[in-house]
Amino acid sequence: MSLLVVGSVAFDSVKTPFGEAEEVLGGSATYFSVAASFFTPVSLVAVVGEDFPDKDVQFLKSRKIDTSGLERAKGRTFRWKGEYGQQLNEAKTLDTQLNVLQTFWPKLPEKFKKTDIVFLGNIDPDLQREVLGQVEKPKLTALDTMNYWISSKKDSLVKTLKLVDILIINDGEARQLSGETNLVKAAQKIRAMGPKILIIKRGEYGALFFSKKSIFHAPAYPLENVFDPTGAGDSFAGGFMGWLAKTRKFDDANVRKAIIMGSVVASFNVEDFSLNRFKRLKYPEITARYKAFKRLTHFENL
Ligand code: AMP
Repeated sequence: MSLLVVGSVAFDSVKTPFGEAEEVLGGSATYFSVAASFFTPVSLVAVVGEDFPDKDVQFLKSRKIDTSGLERAKGRTFRWKGEYGQQLNEAKTLDTQLNVLQTFWPKLPEKFKKTDIVFLGNIDPDLQREVLGQVEKPKLTALDTMNYWISSKKDSLVKTLKLVDILIINDGEARQLSGETNLVKAAQKIRAMGPKILIIKRGEYGALFFSKKSIFHAPAYPLENVFDPTGAGDSFAGGFMGWLAKTRKFDDANVRKAIIMGSVVASFNVEDFSLNRFKRLKYPEITARYKAFKRLTHFENL
């Protein structure tokens, strides 16, 4: 099945307790599309500025990512600066420069309009809705967002939420969006806003899946070396939706597999800065870690 993502393509400056990286390739759509590209081709809709180097476009193309929806606009590429404390669970945003994202109005190439699966990556909810409106009858839609949009554009976000099947956010965002501290209560309130499925990412504590029928918990892989959590959420979403696009089945059992795939891919991403780990990652490493996940959570019946 075809898979489309809209989101940010960015230059990130990141500081973690283990080092720092200045102006490196990042962005929600970048992490998502590279993560999903391990499973399926991806169509990318995003904007970059005049300063975006051709080598980065070539890198995306080399990953089976169709960049015909990557607009190059006048001005500077979006920039984000963040810092992580010892906990590594949540980034503190130090600076956000929207630059070309401020005037971006996505226009899907004709060939993208019949996409089966759409991921609305972290970006202005007005733009997320615009993209959704241009896709003809998608089979599955999912959305990510962040505290920045929950505080600055809640009404628009709530409108967009009504239109999607799945929401993928972290625990802090789930609490902020619902006004509930308890995640089970938060999930009930959020699912009543529109999305039938809610996935709450909890960093090193894994991910929780809520649907009408069931709750599923996936652990995070216990890693020895976590260098940079940036993009973990988008990589999770990319692995999750990339797997669903590859396997074409949305039943409960396959959705659970997809959640583990998302967790596996995200676990690799955090082992290095920017997309460096993905650049070295080979598919057999993904399947090997999937099996390790299975062993990690397996126990016998009483
Ligand atoms: P995450 O997967 O949640 O760690 O997302 C990290 C990515 O989100 C970074 O690469 C940033 O470039 C991007 N990002 C941060 N703030 C924003 C924003 N306000 N809008 C769009 N993308 C953002």
